[in-house]
Amino acid sequence: MRVLVLGAGIIGLSCAEELLRRGHQVSVVDPAPGSGASYAAAGMLSPSSEVWHTERDLLRLGLSSIELWPSYAGRLGVHLHRTGTLLVGFDRGDLQHVERQAALLESFGAAPEMLTGSAARRLEPTLSPRATGAALLSEDHSVDPRSVVEALLSRVGRARDDPEPRECDVTVVATGARLPEPWSSLVRGVRGEILRAHTDDPPTRTIRGWVHGEPLYVVPRADGGVVIGATAEEHDADPVVTLGGVARLLDSARLLVPGLDRATFIEACARDRPGTPDNVPLVGPAPGRDDVILAAGFFRHGVLLAPLAAQLVADHLETGHLDPALDPRRFDVAAARVDADRLVHAPSGREPTYRKDNA
Ligand SMILES: Cc1cc2nc3c(=O)[nH]c(=O)nc-3n(C[C@H](O)[C@H](O)[C@H](O)COP(=O)(O)OP(=O)(O)OC[C@H]3O[C@@H](n4cnc5c(N)ncnc54)[C@H](O)[C@@H]3O)c2cc1C
Repeated sequence: MRVLVLGAGIIGLSCAEELLRRGHQVSVVDPAPGSGASYAAAGMLSPSSEVWHTERDLLRLGLSSIELWPSYAGRLGVHLHRTGTLLVGFDRGDLQHVERQAALLESFGAAPEMLTGSAARRLEPTLSPRATGAALLSEDHSVDPRSVVEALLSRVGRARDDPEPRECDVTVVATGARLPEPWSSLVRGVRGEILRAHTDDPPTRTIRGWVHGEPLYVVPRADGGVVIGATAEEHDADPVVTLGGVARLLDSARLLVPGLDRATFIEACARDRPGTPDNVPLVGPAPGRDDVILAAGFFRHGVLLAPLAAQLVADHLETGHLDPALDPRRFDVAAARVDADRLVHAPSGREPTYRKDNA
């Protein structure tokens, strides 16, 4: 098949790479590859730490996808951090959040190991002695999404100027939080602000939890880098970093992992998570256009779900297989026919400046 992929974030690129592996001709168009949510993401591969009561499908998908990650990371040559997640409560109220999450996971048949504050600190000495307790999610991993995007970009093709639309059999729309019309209402932006720092004394595993009611995570990288995130805010404007957001993240992080006080500040950035009305991704035919496949709306889990999304999209194109939970046609969108040219040239008010193409 000749496949045009719109969007070179982690989802579009992982789909493109899988399709190339299966022998299809693939072109990828993006005005700014890798600059969307995938640029900000912390890279936690954690199917269960923030899953909620109504999100059994998300847990199922996340558990399937995390199984793919060891071989996926190996193939791409990126480091997979395999030390799990410690879900921590700072004060007694925060511990109730941890206990609620543990009870929910138990009801899903995936009970985590519960630890007292001192046991958690023995496991993770960077943790504050004031932490009241924790749950250990030992099967979680993390990756650096920027390395993943780089590895995928180098596999999918070299950048070159080629703004002309190509003949294709099918278009995969993977434009993150900005879907072209008439599907734009299927995805909304949920701003996340996130910090990067460097320390000589990073935690060994992802520390995630609540500090005086504020959710927080600290994700270590192999080189002493740490990622501290993230705020979450529904909004209509551009995703910008706010002083309030940075202050809240720093206050919470320094309480939970006090050694971060001496860390070197590197960067703050903000991007929109692509959320759908039910927070479950869209993978399958676009309402009103069978030759357009949506691969979007991955919200908080796009990095985790990238290898699975790639397989689902490729399987769908080859066999018609569809996971009903992800079918975009579960939402009622006016079935308008869209001119293929408009998809490439004016879907979200931004003109593509170049195309990555190996076809
Ligand atoms: C702060 C933060 C932390 C996160 N942490 C995690 C985490 O720890 N684990 C996890 O699994 N997920 C995490 N996520 C979610 C994850 O980042 C997203 O789900 C994922 O990056 C979505 O990937 P994507 O390729 O769909 O979108 P994006 O990465 O946003 O890529 C979309 C691409 O489409 C391009 N584009 C836009 N319009 C057009 C157009 N008209 N034509 C062509 N191209 C276009 C953009 O330039 C962009 O490159 C986090 C998100 C945020 C914001």
